[in-house]
Amino acid sequence: MAARTLKNVDLETLVSLSKRRGFIFQSSEIYGGLGSVWDYGPVGVELKRNVKDLWWKAMVRDRDDVVGIDAAILMHPDVWVASGHVSSFSDPLVECTNCHRRYREDQLESEACPECEGEFGEPRQFNLMFETHIGPVQSDDNTIYLRPETAQAMFVNFQNVQTTTRKKLPFGIAQQGKSFRNEITPGNFTFRTREFEQMEMEFFCTPGEDEEWHRYWIDFSMNWYRSHGLRAEKLMVREHEADELPHYSKASADIDFEFPWGWGELETISNRTDYDLKAHMERSGKDLSYFDQEKNERYVPFVVEPAMGADRSALAFLADAYDEEPGEKESRVVLRFHPDVAPFQVAVLPLSRNEKLTPKAREVYDTVRTVFNTQFDDAQSIGRRYRRQDEIGTPLCVTVDFETVESDDAVTIRNRDSMEQVRVPVANLVQAINDQIVQMRKDSAG
Ligand code: ATP
Repeated sequence: MAARTLKNVDLETLVSLSKRRGFIFQSSEIYGGLGSVWDYGPVGVELKRNVKDLWWKAMVRDRDDVVGIDAAILMHPDVWVASGHVSSFSDPLVECTNCHRRYREDQLESEACPECEGEFGEPRQFNLMFETHIGPVQSDDNTIYLRPETAQAMFVNFQNVQTTTRKKLPFGIAQQGKSFRNEITPGNFTFRTREFEQMEMEFFCTPGEDEEWHRYWIDFSMNWYRSHGLRAEKLMVREHEADELPHYSKASADIDFEFPWGWGELETISNRTDYDLKAHMERSGKDLSYFDQEKNERYVPFVVEPAMGADRSALAFLADAYDEEPGEKESRVVLRFHPDVAPFQVAVLPLSRNEKLTPKAREVYDTVRTVFNTQFDDAQSIGRRYRRQDEIGTPLCVTVDFETVESDDAVTIRNRDSMEQVRVPVANLVQAINDQIVQMRKDSAG
């Protein structure tokens, strides 16, 4: 593939491209927006959906030892008491005594307010769970929470899943879905928001085998990012120090990515031991142990958890794909996505909007779209349309011109990375596209 000319992109450039091309918009923009809440537009939704589908395929569909669930966001409030979230899912909050701005104490670089240099008051613990009430009456008796993680649904459904699937250890339960955290200082675009989507998997295993599985899932995740195009030099594994481990974890490792503002966590892979199952056994009074037939023994499984953010991963794919090539008049902005991550794989473009070319281009489009996620675009000049497709990272553009309809029934395929154009008979088009996509997959996987 063409070597990238750009090493890093700044966040402002990404935010403005995202808006201009329909990746990500500010939530409720016409009302001035809602702090750190974002909406995915027509192009961004395809990107995020690809990220989620590729994860689901690698994690669930391609494996015999992981199954999926899709649990409700609202859960019994005791779940969050047992998990420790009610008592300890909090961050230290400090307030400036002068301007009253609030900050997360552990993220501050100085002891004075960054805004006005005022002094801070005493820190207090601020619980990050959003509360609401179930039923028509608001009272303390019917307080429930928007889930701050998807993981707990896998623990409380452990027995249901195990008995219905008859899975033996080791096996995992995966889920994707929304989580909510009332973050004190959200920011950096979609990196830290109050509503976000997680992709988590709880892998239940025999105690004693947990450390090996922990390593396995760290490698698995690294491979997943690399094989979908994130550059190796932008990824790193960071083991947690003992004093930063969450309350449930025996060992945790982050996979960090070099975002435009610096290194940040994409995913945490934790060894959660038997902490959660035991906590739920105690609070619910239900037995969540496992009978190991081979060992003729009953025990509570250990759990290793890869916990990834769909929005953060999508942002990493976007940031890493961004490239700019210097041109004669203006530079060419191109997103060099892996072809399976790219929002659209193909664009079909009639050379001009015309009563001869448009129907033929539509016919070609109808064939190609049955196999590849394809856009049809006949607005504006062909040069502008190529530029637009480059800016949303479409790997291949198929152009229908006058020769197509008048003489050769062939079309031109333009490759995003090599910029090569090849002429291909319409009859062989799907195969020819497929061959180029296969090659681009190979080129982009690290
Ligand atoms: P951080 O240290 O950045 O606050 P965390 O360690 O609390 O994150 P986890 O509880 O491990 O995060 O959640 C797993 C994953 O969910 C994170 O790696 C991240 O990708 C995603 N995630 C967590 N919080 C947010 C958020 N506020 N906005 C977007 N994604 C998030």
